[in-house]
Amino acid sequence: MRDLPIVRRVADLRARIAGYRSAGESVGLVPTMGALHNGHLSLIAAAKAQNTRAVATLFVNPTQFGPNEDLSAYPRDEAGDRAKLSDAGCDLLFAPDVAEMYPDGFATTVTVGKLTEHLDGIARPGHFEGVATVVSKLLLQSLPTRAYFGEKDFQQLQVIKRLARDLDIPVEIVGIPTVREADGLAMSSRNRYLSADNRRIAAAIPFVLRQAVPELLRGDVVEHVLERAAMRLKEAGFTRIDYVALCDEATLTPLEAMAPGARLFVAAYLGKTRLIDNWPVL
Ligand code: AMP
Repeated sequence: MRDLPIVRRVADLRARIAGYRSAGESVGLVPTMGALHNGHLSLIAAAKAQNTRAVATLFVNPTQFGPNEDLSAYPRDEAGDRAKLSDAGCDLLFAPDVAEMYPDGFATTVTVGKLTEHLDGIARPGHFEGVATVVSKLLLQSLPTRAYFGEKDFQQLQVIKRLARDLDIPVEIVGIPTVREADGLAMSSRNRYLSADNRRIAAAIPFVLRQAVPELLRGDVVEHVLERAAMRLKEAGFTRIDYVALCDEATLTPLEAMAPGARLFVAAYLGKTRLIDNWPVL
C-alpha cells in the first residue's frame, strides 16, 4: 500500500497545496472528524473525480461539541483512517492537533445567522459557531478549488455554503448525497456506539421518514404527519427526540404546509447516541 503523505502544520499544508497549484492542478478538500466510513469515502471519490488532487483533513474539532456531548468518547482511529484514505486515492492528509488550530490567544468566532435559528441551531447551542469557525479556517488554510460536504448533515452543508459566499472565500462548496447502510440507516461515525439492539432500532429513522413522504404528498396536515412520525420513532425504541420537522431546504425555516423544496429532518437519541437524518419530499 502507498503511504499517504500526512502533514500536521498549516505551513506544510500550504506548501504542498502551493506545489499542486503551481503545477496547474485543481484541489478537492474533504474535511472530516475521522472514524471514516463509506460516506466519507464517497466524498473523497467525488473530490478525486472532479479535481486532480484530493486532500482530506482529520480534526476532531472540540469547539463544535457541547459540554454534555461526546467529545472525549468520539471514535478515533488515525492509522485506520489513513489506510482507507490511501486506498481511496487521496493525495494528502492534514491532521493538525488542537494547538495548531487554536493557538494560545485564539479569539475569533464565525457566526452564521438565520440558517442556524432552526433545528440543530437550537438543539445544539454553539455547535454551528464551532463548525463555521473551523471550516472557515480549513478553507482559508488550504484555499481548495472545491470542498465536499455530505447532505447527511444538511443544515451544516447550507451553513457552509452561506459562509463561503458571505466571506468571499473563493471555493465551490459541493454537496454529496447521503450514503446509507443496506437497511437505510445513514452511515455515521456515531453508529459505532450502537449496541446490536439499538443498531436494529436505528433503521426506524429512514423507514419513518420514507413513510411520511406519501402522507405529506396526499395532503395530510403537516403537524399531524410530524407527530405521527415522532410517535413511530418512540414506539420503535428511540428514547428522546429533539425534533421531527418539515423545513424549506434553502432557508431551513419550518413549514406548516407542503411547498417546493420541503425536506424532512430528524434528530433522535438511542441512549446517549444522537442520530440525525433528512429526506427530500418535494
Ligand atoms: P464527520 O466526520 O462526521 O464530520 O463528517 C465529515 C463529512 O462527511 C461531512 O461533510 C459529513 O456530512 C459527511 N458525511 C458523514 N456521513 C455521511 C454519509 N453517510 N454520506 C455522505 N456524507 C457523509
